[in-house]
Amino acid sequence: MKTKKSQGNGNIGIMGGTFDPIHLGHLLAAEEARERYHLERVIFVPARTPPHKEEEMLSYGEHRYMMTVIGTINNRYFSVSRIELDAPSHAVNYTVDTISRFKEIFGEGRKLFFITGADAILDLTTWKGYETLLSMCEFIAVTRPGYSLSRLKGIFDSEHSGLLSRISLLTIPGLAISSTEIRGRARQGLTIKYLTTSGVEQYILKNKLYIEAKK
Ligand code: NAP
Repeated sequence: MKTKKSQGNGNIGIMGGTFDPIHLGHLLAAEEARERYHLERVIFVPARTPPHKEEEMLSYGEHRYMMTVIGTINNRYFSVSRIELDAPSHAVNYTVDTISRFKEIFGEGRKLFFITGADAILDLTTWKGYETLLSMCEFIAVTRPGYSLSRLKGIFDSEHSGLLSRISLLTIPGLAISSTEIRGRARQGLTIKYLTTSGVEQYILKNKLYIEAKK
């Protein structure tokens, strides 16, 4: 990704996740968010080591990066950033730092939306600099039908309840698909067709991902 400031005024979506692997639910969510929030583009940011996970639990970053590139290839509004994967190896990726970098790249004129799973932000108040983070971007919390908004309301105490206005819930039926389910099916030799794109399916099979404990 270019590091100079980009031209334009459009809203930008930053789709954060581990994408282990990327699946149709992620793609549907990003596309729905793009339309609903008039996003000029959506940048997928595979996390190298999310702050709450040990690296050993994840597939190699390069595999996750490749799958994210392959999965997003057919959408001209989607791109993939290595911003977190290329961070120094000892560094933990904090979303507040990632969003600050994007603010520098795109300039103050752009409105940034951080898109991620609603369950991923239930512990948002434990994230580094979460108040600064919510001042720099709005959150789009994507979830499957039936998810109760009250779960998100519990995030903040009464003193910080105003921050809830910076988070919108976006319901995506396709999010019944999960990366965990795909990994489990691949491990058992079951089909993963139609859960992710055929390119990602082929990449998983070719590289025998998820068959052993870590690949
Ligand atoms: P996670 O805990 O693995 O995911 C929780 C749930 O959210 C899962 O059901 C997951 O489904 C779903 N999900 C995750 N990303 C999604 C996305 N982009 N779109 C739709 N559903 C999504 O969450 P994670 O992937 O590790 O973290 C999510 C993001 O939050 C990452 O960018 C991470 O760096 C950031 N984060 C930051 C901090 C911090 O700054 N302190 C702390 C925690 C997380 P799937 O498994 O199917 O994706």
